[in-house]
Amino acid sequence: MSLPKIAIVIPVFNEEAVLPELFARLGALFAAQTGYAWQAILVDDGSRDRSAALVRAQAAKDPRFQLVELSRNFGFQSALSAGLARTAEADAAVTMDADLQDPPEVIPELLAAWREGAEVVRATRRSRSETGLRRVGFDLFHLLYGRLTDYPIEPNTGTFGVLGRPAIEAFNGLPERHRFFPGLRAWIGFPAADVPYDRQERAAGKPQQSFRRLARYAMDGLFSFSYLPLRLVTYCGLFVALMGFAVGVFFAVRRILGVETAATGFTTLVTLVLFLGGVQLVGIGVLGEYLGRIYDEVKHRPQYIVKRAPRG
Ligand code: UDP
Ligand code: MG
Repeated sequence: MSLPKIAIVIPVFNEEAVLPELFARLGALFAAQTGYAWQAILVDDGSRDRSAALVRAQAAKDPRFQLVELSRNFGFQSALSAGLARTAEADAAVTMDADLQDPPEVIPELLAAWREGAEVVRATRRSRSETGLRRVGFDLFHLLYGRLTDYPIEPNTGTFGVLGRPAIEAFNGLPERHRFFPGLRAWIGFPAADVPYDRQERAAGKPQQSFRRLARYAMDGLFSFSYLPLRLVTYCGLFVALMGFAVGVFFAVRRILGVETAATGFTTLVTLVLFLGGVQLVGIGVLGEYLGRIYDEVKHRPQYIVKRAPRG
Protein backbone atom coordinates (compact mmCIF):
# COMPACT_ATOMS: atom_id res chain seq x y z
CA MET A 1 0.00 0.00 0.00
CA SER A 2 1.32 3.45 -0.83
CA LEU A 3 1.75 6.15 1.78
CA PRO A 4 -0.95 8.79 2.24
CA LYS A 5 0.03 11.93 0.33
CA ILE A 6 -0.06 15.07 2.44
CA ALA A 7 0.22 18.56 0.95
CA ILE A 8 1.04 21.41 3.32
CA VAL A 9 -0.30 24.67 1.92
CA ILE A 10 1.45 27.81 3.17
CA PRO A 11 0.74 31.37 1.98
CA VAL A 12 3.91 33.47 2.15
CA PHE A 13 4.09 37.26 2.09
CA ASN A 14 7.34 38.99 2.99
CA GLU A 15 8.48 36.19 5.27
CA GLU A 16 12.20 36.01 4.45
CA ALA A 17 13.03 36.22 8.15
CA VAL A 18 11.12 33.07 9.10
CA LEU A 19 11.53 30.92 6.00
CA PRO A 20 14.88 29.30 6.94
CA GLU A 21 13.46 28.14 10.25
CA LEU A 22 10.25 27.02 8.57
CA PHE A 23 12.20 24.88 6.10
CA ALA A 24 14.30 23.39 8.89
CA ARG A 25 11.30 22.48 11.01
CA LEU A 26 9.33 21.07 8.09
CA GLY A 27 12.41 19.10 7.05
CA ALA A 28 12.64 17.65 10.56
CA LEU A 29 8.95 16.76 10.45
CA PHE A 30 9.33 15.02 7.09
CA ALA A 31 12.32 13.07 8.38
CA ALA A 32 10.57 12.01 11.58
CA GLN A 33 7.21 11.09 10.05
CA THR A 34 8.03 8.54 7.39
CA GLY A 35 4.48 7.19 7.29
CA TYR A 36 3.41 9.95 4.91
CA ALA A 37 4.48 11.17 1.47
CA TRP A 38 5.04 14.88 2.12
CA GLN A 39 4.75 17.90 -0.11
CA ALA A 40 4.92 21.56 0.90
CA ILE A 41 3.22 24.04 -1.42
CA LEU A 42 4.40 27.56 -0.63
CA VAL A 43 2.37 30.25 -2.34
CA ASP A 44 4.29 33.47 -2.70
CA ASP A 45 1.66 36.18 -2.49
CA GLY A 46 3.63 38.88 -4.31
CA SER A 47 6.33 39.28 -1.65
CA ARG A 48 8.56 42.31 -2.02
CA ASP A 49 11.48 40.74 -0.19
CA ARG A 50 13.55 37.63 -0.95
CA SER A 51 10.84 35.15 0.07
CA ALA A 52 10.25 33.78 -3.44
CA ALA A 53 13.99 33.37 -4.06
CA LEU A 54 14.40 31.53 -0.75
CA VAL A 55 11.56 29.13 -1.54
CA ARG A 56 12.91 28.59 -5.05
CA ALA A 57 16.31 27.68 -3.63
CA GLN A 58 14.72 25.29 -1.16
CA ALA A 59 12.65 23.67 -3.95
CA ALA A 60 15.83 23.16 -5.97
CA LYS A 61 17.45 21.41 -2.99
CA ASP A 62 14.44 19.35 -1.96
CA PRO A 63 11.76 18.41 -4.53
CA ARG A 64 9.17 18.02 -1.80
CA PHE A 65 9.02 21.83 -1.63
CA GLN A 66 7.11 23.64 -4.33
CA LEU A 67 6.87 27.31 -5.14
CA VAL A 68 3.70 28.83 -6.61
CA GLU A 69 4.16 32.51 -7.43
CA LEU A 70 1.22 34.88 -7.75
CA SER A 71 1.49 37.88 -10.04
CA ARG A 72 0.97 40.37 -7.19
CA ASN A 73 -0.27 40.50 -3.60
CA PHE A 74 -3.79 39.07 -3.62
CA GLY A 75 -4.17 38.61 0.13
CA PHE A 76 -4.03 35.65 2.42
CA GLN A 77 -7.39 34.08 1.51
CA SER A 78 -6.63 34.12 -2.21
CA ALA A 79 -3.12 32.74 -1.68
CA LEU A 80 -4.58 29.93 0.37
CA SER A 81 -7.08 29.15 -2.40
CA ALA A 82 -4.25 29.17 -4.95
CA GLY A 83 -2.38 26.60 -2.87
CA LEU A 84 -5.40 24.38 -2.28
CA ALA A 85 -6.16 24.43 -6.01
CA ARG A 86 -2.80 22.72 -6.57
CA THR A 87 -3.25 19.80 -4.20
CA ALA A 88 -4.82 17.49 -6.80
CA GLU A 89 -2.44 14.68 -5.88
CA ALA A 90 -2.92 14.87 -2.14
CA ASP A 91 -5.08 12.69 0.08
CA ALA A 92 -5.22 15.50 2.61
CA ALA A 93 -4.07 19.11 2.81
CA VAL A 94 -2.67 20.85 5.88
CA THR A 95 -3.32 24.61 5.89
CA MET A 96 -1.03 26.80 7.96
CA ASP A 97 0.69 30.18 8.26
CA ALA A 98 4.33 30.63 7.32
CA ASP A 99 5.27 32.51 10.47
CA LEU A 100 5.45 29.39 12.70
CA GLN A 101 2.69 30.64 14.97
CA ASP A 102 1.20 27.32 13.92
CA PRO A 103 3.97 24.90 14.95
CA PRO A 104 4.61 22.15 12.36
CA GLU A 105 5.21 19.73 15.24
CA VAL A 106 1.41 19.61 15.79
CA ILE A 107 0.77 18.32 12.26
CA PRO A 108 1.08 14.59 13.13
CA GLU A 109 -1.65 14.99 15.75
CA LEU A 110 -3.90 16.74 13.24
CA LEU A 111 -3.29 13.97 10.73
CA ALA A 112 -4.05 11.33 13.34
CA ALA A 113 -7.50 12.90 13.79
CA TRP A 114 -7.94 12.88 10.03
CA ARG A 115 -7.04 9.18 9.85
CA GLU A 116 -9.65 8.49 12.49
CA GLY A 117 -12.28 9.73 10.07
CA ALA A 118 -12.54 13.51 10.43
CA GLU A 119 -12.60 15.12 6.97
CA VAL A 120 -12.10 18.52 8.54
CA VAL A 121 -9.63 18.91 11.39
CA ARG A 122 -9.32 22.29 13.12
CA ALA A 123 -6.43 23.11 15.36
CA THR A 124 -7.82 25.05 18.31
CA ARG A 125 -5.68 27.42 20.33
CA ARG A 126 -5.39 26.75 23.99
CA SER A 127 -3.84 30.18 24.31
CA ARG A 128 -3.89 33.24 22.07
CA SER A 129 -0.86 35.34 21.53
CA GLU A 130 -2.70 38.42 20.26
CA THR A 131 -3.06 41.28 22.68
CA GLY A 132 -4.43 44.82 22.83
CA LEU A 133 -6.54 46.16 20.00
CA ARG A 134 -6.17 43.02 17.88
CA ARG A 135 -7.41 40.91 20.73
CA VAL A 136 -10.45 43.14 21.29
CA GLY A 137 -11.13 43.08 17.54
CA PHE A 138 -10.95 39.28 17.39
CA ASP A 139 -13.23 38.87 20.41
CA LEU A 140 -15.76 41.36 19.08
CA PHE A 141 -15.77 39.68 15.70
CA HIS A 142 -16.35 36.23 17.14
CA LEU A 143 -19.12 37.50 19.36
CA LEU A 144 -20.91 39.15 16.41
CA TYR A 145 -20.22 36.29 14.05
CA GLY A 146 -21.54 33.70 16.48
CA ARG A 147 -24.77 35.64 16.89
CA LEU A 148 -25.32 36.54 13.27
CA THR A 149 -24.67 33.38 11.31
CA ASP A 150 -26.06 29.88 11.14
CA TYR A 151 -22.62 28.29 10.74
CA PRO A 152 -20.76 29.33 13.87
CA ILE A 153 -17.00 28.97 13.97
CA GLU A 154 -15.08 27.98 17.05
CA PRO A 155 -13.58 31.27 18.35
CA ASN A 156 -10.17 29.74 18.92
CA THR A 157 -9.62 28.33 15.47
CA GLY A 158 -7.82 29.94 12.57
CA THR A 159 -6.45 28.60 9.35
CA PHE A 160 -4.41 25.82 10.89
CA GLY A 161 -5.96 22.43 10.21
CA VAL A 162 -6.45 19.56 7.80
CA LEU A 163 -8.88 19.06 4.93
CA GLY A 164 -9.40 15.56 3.59
CA ARG A 165 -9.76 14.97 -0.16
CA PRO A 166 -13.59 15.39 -0.28
CA ALA A 167 -13.34 18.58 1.78
CA ILE A 168 -10.63 19.97 -0.53
CA GLU A 169 -12.84 19.24 -3.54
CA ALA A 170 -15.77 20.94 -1.84
CA PHE A 171 -13.68 23.99 -1.00
CA ASN A 172 -12.10 24.24 -4.45
CA GLY A 173 -15.55 23.91 -6.02
CA LEU A 174 -16.91 26.97 -4.24
CA PRO A 175 -17.43 29.72 -6.80
CA GLU A 176 -17.17 32.81 -4.65
CA ARG A 177 -14.39 35.36 -4.67
CA HIS A 178 -14.87 36.89 -1.24
CA ARG A 179 -13.62 34.04 0.87
CA PHE A 180 -13.50 33.63 4.56
CA PHE A 181 -11.79 30.31 5.15
CA PRO A 182 -12.94 29.47 8.70
CA GLY A 183 -16.55 30.29 7.78
CA LEU A 184 -16.48 28.23 4.59
CA ARG A 185 -14.83 25.38 6.44
CA ALA A 186 -17.81 25.36 8.81
CA TRP A 187 -20.23 25.71 5.91
CA ILE A 188 -19.00 22.75 3.83
CA GLY A 189 -19.93 20.36 6.63
CA PHE A 190 -18.25 16.91 6.91
CA PRO A 191 -17.35 15.21 10.19
CA ALA A 192 -14.97 17.56 11.99
CA ALA A 193 -12.53 17.22 14.85
CA ASP A 194 -10.73 19.74 17.04
CA VAL A 195 -7.16 19.31 18.19
CA PRO A 196 -5.91 21.75 20.86
CA TYR A 197 -2.47 23.31 20.55
CA ASP A 198 -0.49 26.22 21.96
CA ARG A 199 -0.21 29.09 19.52
CA GLN A 200 3.32 30.40 19.38
CA GLU A 201 4.74 33.84 18.97
CA ARG A 202 5.77 34.76 15.47
CA ALA A 203 9.22 33.22 14.90
CA ALA A 204 10.50 36.44 13.31
CA GLY A 205 9.33 39.44 11.34
CA LYS A 206 6.14 41.46 11.77
CA PRO A 207 2.50 40.43 11.24
CA GLN A 208 1.80 40.81 7.53
CA GLN A 209 -1.92 41.25 7.85
CA SER A 210 -2.70 44.84 8.64
CA PHE A 211 -5.50 45.66 11.03
CA ARG A 212 -7.41 47.16 8.12
CA ARG A 213 -7.17 43.94 6.18
CA LEU A 214 -8.33 41.90 9.14
CA ALA A 215 -11.27 44.27 9.53
CA ARG A 216 -12.13 43.67 5.88
CA TYR A 217 -12.06 39.90 6.38
CA ALA A 218 -14.33 40.35 9.36
CA MET A 219 -16.80 42.26 7.17
CA ASP A 220 -16.53 39.59 4.48
CA GLY A 221 -17.19 36.94 7.08
CA LEU A 222 -20.23 38.70 8.44
CA PHE A 223 -21.81 39.84 5.20
CA SER A 224 -21.24 36.64 3.27
CA PHE A 225 -22.69 34.42 5.96
CA SER A 226 -25.59 36.50 7.20
CA TYR A 227 -28.61 38.44 5.97
CA LEU A 228 -29.19 39.79 9.42
CA PRO A 229 -27.80 43.30 8.70
CA LEU A 230 -30.42 43.66 5.95
CA ARG A 231 -33.13 42.34 8.19
CA LEU A 232 -32.14 44.74 10.95
CA VAL A 233 -32.51 47.65 8.53
CA THR A 234 -36.00 46.40 7.65
CA TYR A 235 -36.97 46.13 11.32
CA CYS A 236 -35.52 49.53 12.03
CA GLY A 237 -37.47 51.00 9.10
CA LEU A 238 -40.70 49.41 10.27
CA PHE A 239 -40.17 50.66 13.78
CA VAL A 240 -39.47 54.24 12.67
CA ALA A 241 -42.44 54.20 10.28
CA LEU A 242 -44.80 52.98 13.02
CA MET A 243 -43.53 55.63 15.40
CA GLY A 244 -44.06 58.25 12.71
CA PHE A 245 -47.59 57.05 12.14
CA ALA A 246 -48.39 57.11 15.86
CA VAL A 247 -46.99 60.61 16.27
CA GLY A 248 -48.97 61.75 13.21
CA VAL A 249 -52.24 60.39 14.62
CA PHE A 250 -51.47 61.98 17.97
CA PHE A 251 -51.05 65.45 16.47
CA ALA A 252 -54.04 65.08 14.12
CA VAL A 253 -56.29 64.19 17.03
CA ARG A 254 -55.00 67.14 19.06
CA ARG A 255 -55.74 69.44 16.11
CA ILE A 256 -59.26 68.10 15.68
CA LEU A 257 -60.02 68.44 19.37
CA GLY A 258 -58.66 71.96 19.26
CA VAL A 259 -56.03 71.30 21.96
CA GLU A 260 -53.28 72.61 19.74
CA THR A 261 -53.60 75.34 17.18
CA ALA A 262 -50.33 77.16 16.68
CA ALA A 263 -47.62 75.63 14.48
CA THR A 264 -44.68 74.86 16.78
CA GLY A 265 -42.06 72.16 17.13
CA PHE A 266 -39.19 73.37 14.99
CA THR A 267 -36.68 71.49 17.18
CA THR A 268 -38.69 68.28 16.94
CA LEU A 269 -38.77 68.64 13.19
CA VAL A 270 -35.04 69.14 12.81
CA THR A 271 -34.32 66.22 15.14
CA LEU A 272 -36.65 63.93 13.21
CA VAL A 273 -35.24 64.90 9.82
CA LEU A 274 -31.67 64.31 11.00
CA PHE A 275 -32.55 61.04 12.67
CA LEU A 276 -34.41 59.72 9.63
CA GLY A 277 -31.65 60.90 7.31
CA GLY A 278 -29.14 58.99 9.43
CA VAL A 279 -31.22 55.83 9.47
CA GLN A 280 -31.62 56.00 5.69
CA LEU A 281 -27.92 56.48 5.10
CA VAL A 282 -27.06 53.51 7.29
CA GLY A 283 -29.64 51.48 5.37
CA ILE A 284 -28.11 52.47 2.05
CA GLY A 285 -24.67 51.64 3.43
CA VAL A 286 -25.77 48.13 4.40
CA LEU A 287 -27.35 47.65 0.97
CA GLY A 288 -24.11 48.89 -0.55
CA GLU A 289 -22.06 46.28 1.30
CA TYR A 290 -24.11 43.54 -0.30
CA LEU A 291 -24.30 45.27 -3.67
CA GLY A 292 -20.51 45.73 -3.82
CA ARG A 293 -20.02 42.06 -3.06
CA ILE A 294 -22.55 41.06 -5.71
CA TYR A 295 -20.74 43.30 -8.21
CA ASP A 296 -17.41 41.68 -7.38
CA GLU A 297 -18.89 38.22 -7.80
CA VAL A 298 -20.60 38.92 -11.14
CA LYS A 299 -17.40 40.36 -12.60
CA HIS A 300 -16.07 36.80 -12.44
CA ARG A 301 -12.50 37.92 -12.18
CA PRO A 302 -10.22 35.14 -10.99
CA GLN A 303 -9.37 35.15 -7.32
CA TYR A 304 -5.66 35.23 -8.08
CA ILE A 305 -3.29 35.03 -11.03
CA VAL A 306 -0.42 32.58 -11.03
CA LYS A 307 2.80 34.02 -12.35
CA ARG A 308 4.86 30.85 -12.22
CA ALA A 309 4.36 27.38 -10.83
CA PRO A 310 5.67 23.87 -11.42
CA ARG A 311 3.75 22.02 -14.10
CA GLY A 312 0.89 19.75 -13.10
N1 UDP B 1 0.01 36.48 4.15
C1 UDP B 1 -0.24 36.38 2.78
N2 UDP B 1 -0.67 37.48 2.10
C2 UDP B 1 -0.89 38.68 2.72
C3 UDP B 1 -0.69 38.76 4.12
C4 UDP B 1 -0.24 37.64 4.80
O1 UDP B 1 -0.05 35.32 2.18
O2 UDP B 1 -1.28 39.63 2.05
C5 UDP B 1 0.48 35.27 4.88
C6 UDP B 1 1.65 35.50 5.80
O3 UDP B 1 2.88 35.36 5.12
C7 UDP B 1 1.46 34.39 6.81
C8 UDP B 1 -0.04 34.27 6.90
O4 UDP B 1 -0.56 34.87 5.72
O5 UDP B 1 1.97 33.15 6.37
C9 UDP B 1 -0.62 34.95 8.13
O6 UDP B 1 -0.18 36.28 8.17
P1 UDP B 1 0.14 37.03 9.53
O7 UDP B 1 1.02 36.21 10.38
O8 UDP B 1 0.59 38.38 9.17
O9 UDP B 1 -1.31 37.12 10.14
P2 UDP B 1 -1.82 36.89 11.62
O10 UDP B 1 -0.94 35.86 12.27
O11 UDP B 1 -1.74 38.23 12.25
O12 UDP B 1 -3.22 36.41 11.42
MG1 MG C 1 0.82 35.28 12.12
